[in-house]
This record gives sequence, C-alpha cells and structure tokens, in this order.
Amino acid sequence: MQLSFNERTALVTGAGRGIGKAIAEELARQGVTVICVSRNPDSCGAAAEAINAGGGKAVAKAVDVADGEAVAASAAALLKEHDSIDILVNNAGITRDTLLMRMSTEDWEAVLRTNLDSCFHWSKALLPAMARKRWGRVINVSSVIGLMGNAGQANYAAAKAGMLGLTRSLAREYAKRSVTVNAVAPGFIQTDMTSGLGEETEKAILQQIPLKRLGEPEDIANITAFLASGEASYITGQTFTVDGGMVM
Ligand code: NAP
Repeated sequence: MQLSFNERTALVTGAGRGIGKAIAEELARQGVTVICVSRNPDSCGAAAEAINAGGGKAVAKAVDVADGEAVAASAAALLKEHDSIDILVNNAGITRDTLLMRMSTEDWEAVLRTNLDSCFHWSKALLPAMARKRWGRVINVSSVIGLMGNAGQANYAAAKAGMLGLTRSLAREYAKRSVTVNAVAPGFIQTDMTSGLGEETEKAILQQIPLKRLGEPEDIANITAFLASGEASYITGQTFTVDGGMVM
C-alpha cells in the first residue's frame, strides 16, 4: 500500500537487524529518507547500503542509544545535516532475561538504559524541532511483555511498560503541535532476539497465539509505516498490539 509521505526523513534506532531493519526498509520503500542507527557501525552500515542499492535513500549512524550524551551529540549533528527529522522510531532494544533473585543491578540497568532511557534521550533531542515544524511522528516499539509481564523478564517488562507511559505523556504534551506519539507492542517476532528460544518454548508460545505463527519483522514494519504516514494524523497516545491475537 502506498502511503502519503511528503519528503520526510525518519530516524530508526536498532535498524541494523530484525524489526528495525524491516521498518527502515518499508519507510524507504515509501520514499522516506532513513537514518539507520545501531550500536555496531557494520550493521547499520549494511542496512543503509542495502536500502541505497535498492533505490531508496538511507544513511547510517552508529550510536549507543543508552548513552544520553552520545545521543544528544549525534542528534545535534544530524539535525544540521538534514533539513529536518520528522519521524522517530525508538526500536533499539536488548534482553537480559533471568529471575529476579538472580538478576544483577547491571542486568536491570542495561535493559532500562537501552530500552527506556534511549526513548527519553532521542525524544528530548528531536521533538523540539518537530514541534517547531508543527509536524512529527514518534513510534515507540514496546512489547506485549510490557502489557502482560513475564517471569524472568522483570527488567524488560518494566522498560517496555515504561515506554507506554512515556508514549501517552508525550502524546498529550505534543498534540497541540500536531506531533503524534504512538506505541506498537509486538508479540513474538522471528528475529535474532527470539532465535534462541528453543523448540519446546516455541511450541508453548505457539499454543497461545490464535493465528498459529510467530510474526515476521514486516508485520511490525507495516503498522509502523502507517503510524508514521499522513494517513495516521488523527491517532495519538495509542498502543497497537501486533501479536497474532495473543493478547485480547
Ligand atoms: P534484534 O534483532 O536483537 O535487533 C536489535 C537492534 O537494536 C540491533 O540493530 C542492535 O544494534 C540495536 N541495539 C541494541 N542495543 C543498542 C544500543 N545500545 N545502541 C544502539 N543500538 C542498539 O531485536 P528485534 O527482535 O529486532 O527487536 C527490536 C525491538 O522490538 C526491540 O526493542 C525489542 O524489544 C522489540 N520486540 C521484539 C520482539 C521479538 O519477538 N523479536 C517482541 C516484542 C518487542 P546492532 O545491530 O548494532 O547490534
């Protein structure tokens, strides 16, 4: 489906692999210029190269999204290089799964910093320019785990639930400037993050999914592109669960 984008530029974090890469590719297919951010320069570099080779427009930027100062410096440099950054997709994320009794402070902080603090840093850096332009989109990639909780994922669930509160608050703060802020909560999607689940766990998960399959990164890319488009201008502060019907 061709959506309306008017010479927009998007910044997608975690665009080197998995869901973020699919989001970057879909936005580029829609004619959006994409800034692909990941931790490793090779991964965002390869993603941007593939987009450019396919006729899209993309650049790569390696930034540790957990590092507030690095995000602020990168955002300032990018805002000078590009006329505007109209769309922010906060997608970068990690897991450090273990039960609370075994969870170290380091496991807790690494997940909160990477998955939640990063959304604060990028939003703070990029929302003022969107507000001045009176057009903007923020899409935060949360998780069904942020809605349901999960044994062994207290850090991840807390970060993903935190993203939903941040989404609703920023939606209220920026609505008067025509900047929308929404969240997508994926279920189980086939990426590197879920590749180590094991056959038994995957079987158990499939039993909880009415549509009887794991999701593909494109399932998340499609709704993200829609939320970023002109067609979604009357939608803000919402969370869209894309999980094959797991949570209903
Ligand atoms: P993935 O395949 O593991 O890819 C994660 C991406 O995030 C990579 O590009 C990685 O960069 C980047 N990243 C991680 N830490 C970073 C940091 N500190 N700074 C910059 N970039 C960083 O993960 P995925 O499955 O696509 O997940 C994407 C998002 O969807 C995550 O927020 C995840 O929590 C969420 N989600 C996933 C699922 C699922 O089933 N897969 C379900 C619900 C929600 P490098 O490439 O440089 O390593």
